[in-house]
Formats: sequence, structure tokens, C-alpha cells
Amino acid sequence: MKTCIDCGEEKPESDFYERKKGSGKFQAHCKKCSGLRAKKWVSENRERFNEYQNQYRKTKPGERKRRAEAQARYRERQESDPDARWRVVRQKPHDLYRIFDAEGTLLYVGITYMFDRRMTQHSVRQPWWGEVDRITSENYPDRSAAEAAEWDAISQEKPKYNIRKTQIL
Ligand SMILES: [Zn+2]
Repeated sequence: MKTCIDCGEEKPESDFYERKKGSGKFQAHCKKCSGLRAKKWVSENRERFNEYQNQYRKTKPGERKRRAEAQARYRERQESDPDARWRVVRQKPHDLYRIFDAEGTLLYVGITYMFDRRMTQHSVRQPWWGEVDRITSENYPDRSAAEAAEWDAISQEKPKYNIRKTQIL
């Protein structure tokens, strides 16, 4: 039995993630609290992101109209040229992010142009999200630059949970 430093509950070791696979040493917080930490991280970052968006809209009058027009143009273009969106995405600045567990083990490397949404996706879809302790990111001017850096990072740093190299966001 082991006491979790977050919730203070005494639990069997199977309720804790191992620090390193096969090491027999366990994290100080339980699996449930590990998941809560990760969720908290996402919600805090989402708040920061939303706040930034709201600030932006306030300081720019006519922003709503401008966005509606841009969206209409986008839909038109999309109908005549379905690859247009992908070309636009490729030119956007991208983040290369690294996800670590509490022990500093690299869990996952990825790139995204919508960091917040991508982290939310991971938190919902990835069974390993409960192990997340820390996320770092580096900015790149476009997708090609980020892809090159991602390729290096995955092949050299060998993240634990990367299965495939490409992703949509
Ligand atoms: Zn706990």
C-alpha cells in the first residue's frame, strides 16, 4: 500500500503508474490524481487561450463581420478546390510539442497548428494521458519546418507512445 500525495488516500501499488516500466518504483500521486493533474493542465491552458481570443475580439471592432466574410470566402474556395485548406494549414506556424511524465520520460512528440485543441484531443483519446506531467513546445514558421524537427525528435528521442508520424491538427 502507498499513500497518494495529492488525494492522501492509501491505495495498492497497482493504482499508481510505475515511474519507469519494470523499475518497481511508483509515482507519488495515484493514477486517478495523475489524470486529474492532466485535465487541470488542459483546462488552465484552455482558459488562457480563450482569454486571449476574447481580448483580441474586443480590441478589434468589426471582427465578427470580418470573420463571417472570411468564412464565406473560405467555403466558396473549398468547393472549387478541396485541397485549398490543406495548403493554407501547411503555411501556418506550428508547434512541436513534447509530452513528459513525472519521471522526465518522453511520452509523445507531435506537431500542431492548434495547440489547445490538439491537447484536448489527446486528453480524450489517449489511454496514456493519465501519465502526463509536463508539456513543452517550440514554435516553427510553417508545417514543413515543424515536420522536419518532429522527424528528428521522434527518431532520436524515441518517445514511448508515438506510433505513427503524421496527424491532422
Ligand atoms: Zn490520489
